[in-house]
Amino acid sequence: LDLIAAVEPDVAGAIRAELADQRSSLKLIASENYASPAVLLTMGNWLSDKYAEGTIGHRFYAGCQNIDTVEQLAADHAKALFGAPHAYVQPHSGIDANLVAFWAILAQRVESPALAQAGAKHVNDLSDDDWQSLRKALGDQRALGMSLDAGGHLTHGFRPNISGKMFHQSSYGTDPETGLLDYDDVAAKAREFKPLVLIAGYSAYPRRINFARMREIADEVGATLMVDMAHFAGLVAGKVFAGDFDPVPHAHVTTTTTHKSLRGPRGGLVLCQPEYADSVDRGCPMVLGGPLGNVMAAKAVALAEARQPMFQQYAQNVASNAVALADGLMRRGARLVTGGTDNHLALIDVSTFGLTGRQAESALLDSGIVTNRNAIPRDPNGAWYTSGVRIGTPALTSRGFGPTEFDRVAELIVDVLSATTPTAAASGGASKAKYTIGDGVADKTHAAAAEL
Ligand code: PLP
Repeated sequence: LDLIAAVEPDVAGAIRAELADQRSSLKLIASENYASPAVLLTMGNWLSDKYAEGTIGHRFYAGCQNIDTVEQLAADHAKALFGAPHAYVQPHSGIDANLVAFWAILAQRVESPALAQAGAKHVNDLSDDDWQSLRKALGDQRALGMSLDAGGHLTHGFRPNISGKMFHQSSYGTDPETGLLDYDDVAAKAREFKPLVLIAGYSAYPRRINFARMREIADEVGATLMVDMAHFAGLVAGKVFAGDFDPVPHAHVTTTTTHKSLRGPRGGLVLCQPEYADSVDRGCPMVLGGPLGNVMAAKAVALAEARQPMFQQYAQNVASNAVALADGLMRRGARLVTGGTDNHLALIDVSTFGLTGRQAESALLDSGIVTNRNAIPRDPNGAWYTSGVRIGTPALTSRGFGPTEFDRVAELIVDVLSATTPTAAASGGASKAKYTIGDGVADKTHAAAAEL
């Protein structure tokens, strides 16, 4: 840090402050974690200085032997950890991994047949007319994914994301009574919509998904099953999600981030069945530039960590701690979407405390508890203010918290939410953002959070 401070002291200050914040507060953001020192150190070194566009052993730059080594290691660890036939570890993030996967599916399902029909080997060999009709065919495809308010992700075909411009999108939601995924409803929607890609995966659905059933649905309508396991990859790696609930053997293409429950560096990767491998490997230069050698190396280290028996114990603890946290909240009167959890996250409906998600998120932050507001199914407050707060156990489980500590965390959350009241907006009407916390509660909770 002294080296950094000598050049730009404010950056060194921000790094120190981040460490202090992370140590004195309770990190409950379901998509965050604490990467190990080995992973963090692997990201800050000379591998970062090398250009290596291309694939292992087939680069557009000279001198890539060490990048080849780390990329191969990361891919091998990923294949062994997840039992996948093929792994592509270059994506810089989850959004990139999904983009690589979408293009690979389009290339495999639409572009290759079009090239074969035109008797061409490469798009550059197509006549202008054939190229225009291929572009139209590529832009005319459909994707079916989980709706945002049920817990789906923006990259699953929604308008603000490029995937929403690539595909005509339709969504499946959850059962209004139970909040659970209704597979018969997904099947009915798939039959009607006939998607090229059926997407399964989520960022805020607190339950596991039966991927064997999703594959049956995909097969029935001739869709490619793409699973985005970004949130729960750690539970798959740690064998908490096995059999029908392990996406990798059932999906044609599986994408993930590496920094959430998997506890690696910020980044993404794609796993796939052999028939998609060539198209997936064309992620660079199709949608990616030069890979980040330092981050691929850190992925190799994190994936090697996840292959150790200790990681299975960690993943089991993430799941059992989520149950302890959810039970602790519900015992104290909180309402959870779906009435609990069987993964690493829970979604609190804070409207029962008379609050919006925005007010609850801010009041918790003031009290040293870091969460994020999140829409709940059919949310009357929309995606900005929301009625929910999402919480997860991966980060605090990495710090060694067990069920007892998580029960205390549940108590602190309910104390803060119960002591928080909405305040009127400046104009006098109800505000969805302003709030007050009862005397001393924020300070007391902050102190308790720092002590934990
Ligand atoms: N997919 C899912 C399910 C996610 O939850 C996220 C991130 O929140 C992403 C993709 C995007 O990951 P990234 O932020 O690394 O682009």
